[in-house]
Amino acid sequence: MIDPWGSSIIDYEKLTEQFGIKAFKDVVEDIPDASKLMTRGIIFGQRDYSRIADALKNNKNFATMTGMMPSGKMHIGHKMVVDQLKWYQEKGSDIYLSIADMEAYAARGIGKEESRELALVEYIENYIALGLDVTKDNFHLYLQSENEDVKNLAYLIGKKVTFSQMRSIYGFDNSTNVAHIYTPLLQVADILHPQLEEYGGPKPVIVPVGPDQDPHIRLTRDLASKFNEEYGFIEPSATFHRFMTGLTGEKMSSSKPKTAIYLTDSVKDATKKVKSAKTGGRDSLQEQKELGGQPDQCSVYELLVYHLVDDDKELESIRSKCLSGEILCGNCKQCAVELLTDMFEELDSKREEAHEIAKDLL
Ligand code: SF4
Repeated sequence: MIDPWGSSIIDYEKLTEQFGIKAFKDVVEDIPDASKLMTRGIIFGQRDYSRIADALKNNKNFATMTGMMPSGKMHIGHKMVVDQLKWYQEKGSDIYLSIADMEAYAARGIGKEESRELALVEYIENYIALGLDVTKDNFHLYLQSENEDVKNLAYLIGKKVTFSQMRSIYGFDNSTNVAHIYTPLLQVADILHPQLEEYGGPKPVIVPVGPDQDPHIRLTRDLASKFNEEYGFIEPSATFHRFMTGLTGEKMSSSKPKTAIYLTDSVKDATKKVKSAKTGGRDSLQEQKELGGQPDQCSVYELLVYHLVDDDKELESIRSKCLSGEILCGNCKQCAVELLTDMFEELDSKREEAHEIAKDLL
């Protein structure tokens, strides 16, 4: 397994120690045909992944669950989730994708129709253009507000969690509206409902998330065990992936245009963003030739690792040439721009068909 990371803005090891998340590298050898996100350490943590590894190795039934709260635009960091869904879909997993319109309403005041539109146009079209097959029988997309099973389950599991627990996990206070307090239970129900009898009964479920979602995962696992007798729920498994560093060096965020490359950016705008991105280059060319660059502090290198360079050998070569000062940031950015242009042109060419497919999905 290659490790393209030396250090990063978030100390992922500390994070895993602090919350009891297990290292993903400990299970990666057990995964048949592991994905690049796995072998490159972008997925760095896991809870109970051995169940999923077992299902993958022995062709057992399992499901993959994710959700999205429609707000803002989809950026290239979000592509990571789509890449994981695609990988699990190819391995035969059922895919459940929840549009958290109830949460969007409670937390951000976004109405149902706006949520539906945002989800389809800004997210699902891109998911399809990126290669997720939404026409397969194993793909299940729904709005939370229209899924009676999820809503009923959320209500039932609410019996075994108190307000004080919710407050300590989510930081709710006296000014939090009650609908918002209820929304984590909907997310728990999203994750658990593929195990209901109507959906084929108890089975391993994998939830690929960023580390900020771990409180939901812990609450879900806790409630799954409390309802194990009644429903036979198996505690869901989770993987945790790194965040993408934004082009400015902080976290990539939809609400901060300077940090993010949006999937709907024109090639011209995306090029401009890459060209002005923060790199791990030195102050002067002379210094860079002597000391080499710092790929682990470079947002352009991250783009290459996460999305643009598929071949491990090519990536290792870029890394070592950067470290030795053999390549300079200008050339490296040009290479990233060319790869990104190919990706964006392909996405653009697929988007029209994706639009036709997406509009009838919800
Ligand atoms: Fe980043 Fe490339 Fe510059 Fe190295 S040479 S710091 S990888 S842009």
